[in-house]
Amino acid sequence: MKGKINVKTENIFPVIKKFLYSDHEIFLREIVSNAVDATQKLKTLSSLGEVKGELGDLTIDVKIDKDAKTLHVIDRGIGMTKDEVEKYITQIAFSGAEEFIEKFKGKSEADANQLIGHFGLGFFSSFMVSDQVEIITKSFKDESGVHWTCDGDTEYSIEECDKKERGTEIIMHITDECKDFLEEYKILELLRKYCKFMPVAIRFGKEKSWEDSPTEKDKDGNPKRIEVEHDRIINNTEPLWKKTPSELKDEDYNKFFHELYPMNFDEPLFHIHLNVDYPFNLTGILYFPKIKKNIDPTQDKIQLYCNQVFVTDSVEGVVPQYMMLLRGVLDSPDIPLNVSRSYLQSDNNVKKISSHIAKKVAEKLEEISNKQHEDFLNKWDDLKVFIEYGMLSDEKFYDRMKNIYVFKNTLGEFYTFEEYKTKISSLQTDKDGNVIVLYAHNTDEQYAYIQAAKDKGYDVLLMDGILDSHFINMLEQKNEKIRFTRIDSDVISNLIKKDETIPSKLSEDETKKIKEMMENLIDKKKFTIQTESLDETSAPMTITQNEFMRRMKEMSELGGNGMYGLYGDMPENYNLVINTNHPVIYNVLQSTDAEKQTQVLSQLKDLALLSQGLLKGEALDTFIKRSTKIIE
Ligand code: ADP
Repeated sequence: MKGKINVKTENIFPVIKKFLYSDHEIFLREIVSNAVDATQKLKTLSSLGEVKGELGDLTIDVKIDKDAKTLHVIDRGIGMTKDEVEKYITQIAFSGAEEFIEKFKGKSEADANQLIGHFGLGFFSSFMVSDQVEIITKSFKDESGVHWTCDGDTEYSIEECDKKERGTEIIMHITDECKDFLEEYKILELLRKYCKFMPVAIRFGKEKSWEDSPTEKDKDGNPKRIEVEHDRIINNTEPLWKKTPSELKDEDYNKFFHELYPMNFDEPLFHIHLNVDYPFNLTGILYFPKIKKNIDPTQDKIQLYCNQVFVTDSVEGVVPQYMMLLRGVLDSPDIPLNVSRSYLQSDNNVKKISSHIAKKVAEKLEEISNKQHEDFLNKWDDLKVFIEYGMLSDEKFYDRMKNIYVFKNTLGEFYTFEEYKTKISSLQTDKDGNVIVLYAHNTDEQYAYIQAAKDKGYDVLLMDGILDSHFINMLEQKNEKIRFTRIDSDVISNLIKKDETIPSKLSEDETKKIKEMMENLIDKKKFTIQTESLDETSAPMTITQNEFMRRMKEMSELGGNGMYGLYGDMPENYNLVINTNHPVIYNVLQSTDAEKQTQVLSQLKDLALLSQGLLKGEALDTFIKRSTKIIE
């Protein structure tokens, strides 16, 4: 029998093809998940006693016939009667397609792509890659088999056939432009991407593995290892997130992590098994990965599933931005997965899911910090970026984390914010009553500065994370009377200003003179000369960098919010601090030998630069030659 599909739109298929062009690989997901649905429906009916007898092998087969240029998806599910094919395929699916086209005339391809499943376009996505599609199906009900054919026009044919076994075979005659889909590697890639955790076994091609021979033995009498070819099963039908957490061990979770990300060889730090059934449905496992200094957000992303069918690994909007540093899977039938992203972000369910996930993650961190504190501290370096990012971007997360966040000092000791304030407040409070937190970003490079602080009995934190500037800024805003200052942002007596002042050994004229002499020896655009009357054991010259300017520059370099952008282009600026009480400075001024004066001042300046790691290239060479000459 021939029929005509009752649609107003002239020809639906060219439009579908055009609309869906950019993402046409999803056709395989749609066809295979229909097969999965049909199989699961069969199992349900069987458990209800509505399907009698053994169900047999329910594995779904995917096959390529290169000569016929066809791709086959074969299931042993409930199948369809002739009436059902007419109803579900011809009428409903087509009207879905029609509605789709009406609604999305003039919309972008990307928007259209996400509407496929939403409008029941699933089956018809096969026309994106085929110039003819056949359905050969036999229902579990006692009716004859049906053969439906449609070649991408509004006309189709439907007739009875003598299919023996229950189930459905979809035959796609792949177009020449899409002949990639007749390649085994391509189909394998797609099956692994979209079908990896579908709940019914999927068979495709053959693979080889090494096994113990049942008969042959090696020279030690052990079974011989032989290479065996067998059917390749694509998917894990019972992924870990569907299992009961109490029955699982850490090893299981770690193993699953590697199943998800075969190219990631690190072990995850912790995991969270999510299992929510009210007010929405959500299961999943999130992992805290080791976060490297250079985060690559394009790798190993969180994967979103809808009833074990892979949907996407672009989870923007579903989880808070900072949670995207996590890894793992989320599976929810309640996320409207097939609609556009802007819709996703305004969806109430999605918002609830998002804040629920954030809450669970915070709870887990609290639990680890309370119950496995040592473990928490050991892994702190890897957790820190994540926690800081979360505290910076989510007020609720900040509140939950503020008491478990820890500072690490240059001795490797950990303190919570309150503990640290108590520890340092007696010595490190300045004359205005501000508690001054000193920090270094590199214990080797800033050794001299750290040492100077320690000599005064001060404590120095190690703040070497990429978000630390932003984080410190936030802490200062939230806490009055706390100032963070990097150890090299001024000379130590200025970092924590006390009331006592040391009288200067130099007269005003002399101070002016030394300043002028130095200005002739250094790049004035880059360095500001500053004279300070420090104690005579402090270095004669020191390089410092203003805390505020440096921090703003760092924040803008990280691509922070607009207001810091201003500072990104500013040139680096340093201070050269001269200790007017140092004997060597005093002596230089007394000398009458101008050449000698220049030599000594240059040497002092270079030593200061050297200790800040700023002496390079030609300047370093000049310094070495001059030093050699002095020794001679
Ligand atoms: P959806 O799956 O979103 O309902 P589809 O266009 O993919 O939309 O499929 C339309 C209908 O066709 C399905 O709801 C189902 O009733 C029927 N169908 C599709 N594929 C199969 C199959 N392999 N076995 C049985 N029924 C199927």
